[in-house]
Amino acid sequence: MTDSVVDSILKARYLREGEKDYDDICRRVAEALGENEDEIRDYYSEMLSLRFLPNSPTLMNAGTELGQLSACFTLYVGDSISEIFDAVSWGAQIHKTGGGTGYNFSNIRPEGSPVCSTDGVASGPVSFMKVFNAATEVIKQGGRRRGANMGILNVWHPDILNFIESKKNEGDIANFNISVMVNDEFMELVEAGEFDKVWIHHPNTGEDITVGAVWEGIINGIWRNGEPGVLFYDEINRKNMTPNLGSIDTTNPCGEQPLLHFESCVLGSLNLSKFIYKDVLDRKALERSTRIAVRFLDSVIEKNVFPIPQIRIATRRTRKIGLGLMGVHDALLMLKLAYDSPEGRDFCEETMAFVNEISADESHRLAAEKGAFPAFKGSVWGDYEVRNAAMTTIAPTGTISLLAGCSSGIEPVFSYAYTRKDTVQKTFEMIHPLFESELEKTLSGIGKSPSEVKDLKRKAINHVHETGTIQDLLWLPESFRRIFKTALDIDWRSHVLMQAAFQRNVHASISKTINMPESATKKDIADVLLLSWHEKIKGLTIYRTGSRQSVVLELSKRE
Ligand code: ADP
Repeated sequence: MTDSVVDSILKARYLREGEKDYDDICRRVAEALGENEDEIRDYYSEMLSLRFLPNSPTLMNAGTELGQLSACFTLYVGDSISEIFDAVSWGAQIHKTGGGTGYNFSNIRPEGSPVCSTDGVASGPVSFMKVFNAATEVIKQGGRRRGANMGILNVWHPDILNFIESKKNEGDIANFNISVMVNDEFMELVEAGEFDKVWIHHPNTGEDITVGAVWEGIINGIWRNGEPGVLFYDEINRKNMTPNLGSIDTTNPCGEQPLLHFESCVLGSLNLSKFIYKDVLDRKALERSTRIAVRFLDSVIEKNVFPIPQIRIATRRTRKIGLGLMGVHDALLMLKLAYDSPEGRDFCEETMAFVNEISADESHRLAAEKGAFPAFKGSVWGDYEVRNAAMTTIAPTGTISLLAGCSSGIEPVFSYAYTRKDTVQKTFEMIHPLFESELEKTLSGIGKSPSEVKDLKRKAINHVHETGTIQDLLWLPESFRRIFKTALDIDWRSHVLMQAAFQRNVHASISKTINMPESATKKDIADVLLLSWHEKIKGLTIYRTGSRQSVVLELSKRE
């Protein structure tokens, strides 16, 4: 079954003319990036073994004329018509190549402001977002994947309430994720309960917008359909690796890359489940693959064909790369560590610290060979020369984790059996292989006969497919149920704490959804945001079950 998913993805996205399978893709990519035979061999075997995969644009475009290899871009949006439409055009060029774009619209003057040159009245950031959205809609027809955008507004922009409401109805501005960039000052007022305090005075409507109105707007939006996301401006900038180049106010579409304007970043992910041998993490193998991956990603910066000169200049100045992990929950299952346990989090934190440290060390070696990144002086690295201003990120790995057949990014498994719709709306039924094999072992282990094992296995799979959980199957041993929890079994606090455990050892940010049950209250959502801020998370997305009609993963009865 999984093979047909992989085939369908390969055909829809990655295979170029004359290529027939994944092996061909690995060869093309390795040959395009490797500088010598050894590198080509290493890159090829890392990808082929599914230990490491670069982001989709690299798999799609390396060794082709297009040659655009990065997933993440952030653009500058100014306040003039020409600056705004420049950004629309840049975005279109990026989408054509499979990249996603982030914009902070806060420079755009608020709705109702005078337009001096025409004596007219400005229509505000939200109206322009709709233009970007329409452009994306048109471009997606020609590309291999539809464009993705992040639209950001600072919490101190006068149009903030309008922005928060801009995705009120499902399907509005559908090619955008939206996020509010909050700052510490705002969060401190919220925490102190200063809801009646005037936060911002709208210069055109005359409205006094209170802290409470903004906070409630955010919470209501999240409760209603998971938008807006929230980004923490001060935390992002406390961890800015190149404060010498200015502050950061924008991220890419899924939020894992806070970047300076015009920077781009290439992502790559190590599949942690491939480094668990005989119930332990093989650190030596992980170190080796990490070092190869850092070289691989750095080489992408050299070979990349950048869509516009500003992006080439900004990207080459800092040379940020985004190496991360996927298959994390699978690795935890193999180690029999519960995702929502302190032991599980400790393992993740230590492992990510290790990857982070090795990545910096490899980048240090690269700097000795090829030079440090040009904006090195004044960066947080001090005297320790590195070739890349930042090395680590946790990507969503939406497609590459499917190719690798592992759990995505650091997310817990959504369900051990589910129906998957692919980009061309074919549906596939997926059963998690570890779940199936461990279930069988566990049932045999408690003395069930082979035919009982077969029946009970079917029963459990049907149940998890239908309901997304096995926690209520009390005939399964507690030791099994404790490990095989799903995204919805895991309480929101554990979701947040896992994200925080990773964030402590990741240079950029993390793509993660905090799943909440349908019954979650607005107070619960407020608590998630406050805890995330305290835990020094840089940004997050919350999703309350059932709050959207259209979802990628869904549970359904097996036929
Ligand atoms: P993949 O698994 O395909 O390599 P990810 O799901 O890890 O990609 O997403 C990484 C980043 O790629 C996103 O944060 C976003 O910037 C970009 N991206 C994701 N999906 C799309 C898309 N449909 N179109 C354009 N860019 C995308």
